[in-house]
Amino acid sequence: MVMFRTTALAALVAGAIALSTAAVDQRTSAPGNTQEIDTSIKPGDDFYHYANGGWQKTAAIPAGQSSFDNRAILVARTSQRVREVIQEAAAARPATGSVAQKVGDYYASFVDQRGIEAKGMAPLDEEMSAIAAIRDKGTLSAYLGATLNTEVDGLTGNADHIFGAWVNQSFTDSAHYVFHLLQGGLGMPDRDDYLDQSAKMAALRGQYQAHIAAMLKLAGVADSEGKAARVLALEIRIAQAHAPDSDAADVFKQNNPWKRAEFATKAPGMDWGAYFKAAGAAEEAEFVVWQPSAVTGTAALVGSEEIEVWKDYLRFHLMEHYASVLPKAVAAEHFAFYGAILAGAQQMPERSEDAIGATNAALGQAVGKLYTERYFPPEAKARAQAMVADLIAAYRARIPKLTWMSAETKEKALAKLAALRVDVGYPDQWIDYSTLAIVRGDAFGNMRRAEAFNRAYSLAKLKRPADPDEWRIDPQILGAVILFSPNTETFSAGILQPPYFDPEGDTASNYGSAGAGMAHEISHSFDELGNIYDAQGRLGKWWSEEDATRYHAAAAKLVAQFSGYCPFSDLCVNGERVLTENIADLTGLVIAHDAYVLSLKGKEDVVIHGLSGEQRFFLAFAQRWRRVQREDAARRQMKTDTHSPGEYRSDTVRNVDAWYKPFDVKPEDKLYLKPEERAGIW
Ligand SMILES: [Zn+2]
Repeated sequence: MVMFRTTALAALVAGAIALSTAAVDQRTSAPGNTQEIDTSIKPGDDFYHYANGGWQKTAAIPAGQSSFDNRAILVARTSQRVREVIQEAAAARPATGSVAQKVGDYYASFVDQRGIEAKGMAPLDEEMSAIAAIRDKGTLSAYLGATLNTEVDGLTGNADHIFGAWVNQSFTDSAHYVFHLLQGGLGMPDRDDYLDQSAKMAALRGQYQAHIAAMLKLAGVADSEGKAARVLALEIRIAQAHAPDSDAADVFKQNNPWKRAEFATKAPGMDWGAYFKAAGAAEEAEFVVWQPSAVTGTAALVGSEEIEVWKDYLRFHLMEHYASVLPKAVAAEHFAFYGAILAGAQQMPERSEDAIGATNAALGQAVGKLYTERYFPPEAKARAQAMVADLIAAYRARIPKLTWMSAETKEKALAKLAALRVDVGYPDQWIDYSTLAIVRGDAFGNMRRAEAFNRAYSLAKLKRPADPDEWRIDPQILGAVILFSPNTETFSAGILQPPYFDPEGDTASNYGSAGAGMAHEISHSFDELGNIYDAQGRLGKWWSEEDATRYHAAAAKLVAQFSGYCPFSDLCVNGERVLTENIADLTGLVIAHDAYVLSLKGKEDVVIHGLSGEQRFFLAFAQRWRRVQREDAARRQMKTDTHSPGEYRSDTVRNVDAWYKPFDVKPEDKLYLKPEERAGIW
């Protein structure tokens, strides 16, 4: 189970592939398409509805959903393509050892429920014996080390393993990888699920305890009820030691370097020698401990809690971890708690949907390779790279002209820009899966071997210098990963498709849509989020106090402008809360526009469907935000999201001088701003 969290380490844009096969209108057209426009509306009065009115007339919110937008279209299309790629590999029976064979056989084994049923609980025998053999603190520590979760990172929380490891550069040394140790070990998603004393949470804990009992019973454990109560009590104690979620927003709280020798005194209870040896990290000398209280508290529990309670805890989590490749009764009990109770799902997803999710999780880059071979060829990558080069050139030209940055800070910003690495589409160097055996008919063994492979892959990095080529997101995922440490941004092939980016389409539209989105993300490396990381991604502020004061003064116009937007008579935008993202939107737009102009190399752009390049650029920007949404969802979003509603994000254009002429915007128009009223930070 993974949980995505936003941390101060990164501006999170990562998305997962939704696996719904629900029929969704997959109609997309080139950005700037005239049919999407509503020409009865004056662009200067209401640019969002002018740009999107035609589309909105036909867009429908699918049953059971609260909204419909570009993202929903892309998720449906990409999920379908990923499904086809995987299922075709399963049907084709490619040569043993090939990437397609591994993908196809992983999927085929996972959907083979009859085969899984026939094996019963036998696949767990070896692991259950290992748990049964735990007899003291040393053997318990070794077992916990063997279950270290290496599939976490700065964004993905660690759930059902006591600790997680993320191999990444340290916060003070960008040249070397270090072992980041993260808290874990809770079956419910939040620490508060265990500690909140409300009746609602107490009831949830009761349901969780019943679920633990049901799983232990399925594992053949006697007195499962009594044991479940003790397992829950242990998890509550682990939760008490965990750092609160709010700490995740403060990277300085996570930067706790520990030497290997310090663990015994700082966190007594665990046999750390046995733990790290079993984890495959016996030689590591340096660690970064993200939540010291969790390491200290959990280690103390290893020393103080009864060994038998720990063993039941481990039996339960073992069942939970492999529920998807065990007989149906186990998977159904897993769904009864995580699907029905926690997520509110009505029915278990189709087996094939789970199988596609599992194949993606186990063989991310293998699926990504098959996906991009078909849907994101080298020419598409080259075109996206050319756009990135124009965006970087636009930043390089703008930074020296900024009015709020001091000369010294500008130098640092330019150095950080020069060091920034932006990757698009797919990696140049794919993960080599040749040592991973995937065997048709062995769903459990495949999952175990893939986990072991991914773990060895992660830990092997500790023996190498930090690799700037490391790829951070699977290409078929619809999203991007912005990591401040190291200073990298990665945009997947999944997000680089129409209507955001058309590799064969119109440049003006691509720059107004995907270009503005990428420039938005790049801006976070230089704004208040990125201010605490230097060019190499090491912790350290680089703005001066005066820079910050002038920056906030320049941003005041944007706060007032957005606070004036009231989509409901009783609810207005909170201009302060959405400020950081509004600045990024505005920055992204002006940089993308500069980049578009650069791309023309002094030539005049062509006219398409009667629209000039300038018109298509701004229309594509506004069409990025198109959405139909139910009112309750819109209200909820306004109260929690740090982004403004799409309509107002689209109206960012009114701050940009270049928008006025192509749409003939006049002082009497509603969106018109006098030049001195227009916000300008970049
Ligand atoms: Zn942002």
